[in-house]
Amino acid sequence: MNADLHSHSTVSDGLLPPAEVVGRAYRNGVRMLALTDHDEISGLAEARARADQLGLRFIDGVEISVSWDDYTLHIVGLNVDPAHKGLQEGLERIRRTRDSRAQRIAQALDEAGIPGALEGALAFAGNPELISRAHFARFLAQHGYARDVKAVFEHYLTWGKPGYVPHQWAELDEAIRWIHAAGGTAVIAHPGRYRMNPGEMRELVTRFRELGGEAVEVISGSHSPEQYRVYADLAREFGLLASRASDFHGPKESRMDLGKLPELPAGLKPVWQGW
Ligand code: AMP
Ligand code: MN
Ligand code: MN
Ligand code: MN
Repeated sequence: MNADLHSHSTVSDGLLPPAEVVGRAYRNGVRMLALTDHDEISGLAEARARADQLGLRFIDGVEISVSWDDYTLHIVGLNVDPAHKGLQEGLERIRRTRDSRAQRIAQALDEAGIPGALEGALAFAGNPELISRAHFARFLAQHGYARDVKAVFEHYLTWGKPGYVPHQWAELDEAIRWIHAAGGTAVIAHPGRYRMNPGEMRELVTRFRELGGEAVEVISGSHSPEQYRVYADLAREFGLLASRASDFHGPKESRMDLGKLPELPAGLKPVWQGW
């Protein structure tokens, strides 16, 4: 089964509209796709309509921004009901805080000698309710502040750099609660990105399990082959289901295209098993 259970569209920080994400996934051989925009579910109806036309199995998803300890984590919800009020209200709350964060980022960049960043980022945002650092990065790259989007992150937008501002996202328990209330399955997104030491990672997974979290991305566009093995072992040890997830944002920006992922390592239970 070519399943790809993590992708982005223009309703968050992806480069393609929802229907085009679905079309590209289908052409790449994906037969089960989740759209998982950051803190936003307004692209799901368009994506599902296109998937139904193509005969592609579509999974309603979302990627929720969470603060845990000093870390920002992403928790993906799969098979959520987009009409669920509790989920909608929780996501609305996070999106409102994104607004004030965007203003603080723009002010920090202004103080570093880069004016006009809020307007610049907004020009790249397909959805004015959802400004991501990726939109700032595209603006900064366009104006030559660094070679490309990746370099912009390294020089401006990550911890300790001039355009980085701390932010309080949702709590881990709230995010899992919203996902479960909406009938969904909770997945730790791209664990290899969090720069935790192994002890901290085990603490996170233990807490995630206590809260009823079900799955972890083992195959991720953010992971190296070595990390596939590390997180496959973690999934087996903690009895987590395993997900396969490109985290596709756009044709030129993403290392991993939709559906072009290795198979899950042997002995893991796919999160989509039984759907
Ligand atoms: P935000 O949720 O607004 O903090 O933005 C996070 C998004 O920025 C991620 O979902 C990626 O799309 C993007 N991003 C984060 N780090 C990097 C990086 N090092 N290179 C390229 N894109 C990144
Ligand atoms: Mn993103
Ligand atoms: Mn993420
Ligand atoms: Mn993502």
